Amino acid sequence: MSDCIFCNIVSGAFSSATIYENDEFKVILDRFPANEGHVLILVKEHVANLFEIDPDKAGRLFRLAALIAREMKTRLGFEHMNVMQNNGTIAGQTVFHFHLHLIPRYENDGIQIHYQPLELTDAQIEAMRKKLEMQL
Ligand code: AMP
Ligand code: ZN
Repeated sequence: MSDCIFCNIVSGAFSSATIYENDEFKVILDRFPANEGHVLILVKEHVANLFEIDPDKAGRLFRLAALIAREMKTRLGFEHMNVMQNNGTIAGQTVFHFHLHLIPRYENDGIQIHYQPLELTDAQIEAMRKKLEMQL
């Protein structure tokens, strides 16, 4: 997709600060980071989001995320991390090419990544559980 920023980064047409690459994934620094050391794991193939990515590839991506996160923690000396992945505009996705955010968290960094929980009854939880109970 020639008009996709991340396809252009994957192909090398646009520059990126790349820290790791294999045949399926490219790992780069976010150009507009939420915090120091904010990393993005890009899938090389153009797929928009979690609803499109091959589930086995998503599994390999998360394996890579675990390896990269540990290496980042050792090198940067932080203790905590948010892993974020947005799917669709309502969910805050701005680049429609699958990517996983790894965001290091430092003491008193002031970064806000949170939501206000809904207050639900046990009956509402059970109604939702029934809707979603599944066999895969
Ligand atoms: P999302 O909002 O989940 O789609 O995240 C898109 C991310 O891509 C944002 O965190 C942006 O800062 C980042 N981004 C946008 N353009 C570039 C670029 N050229 N190089 C690296 N990261 C980028
Ligand atoms: Zn793309």
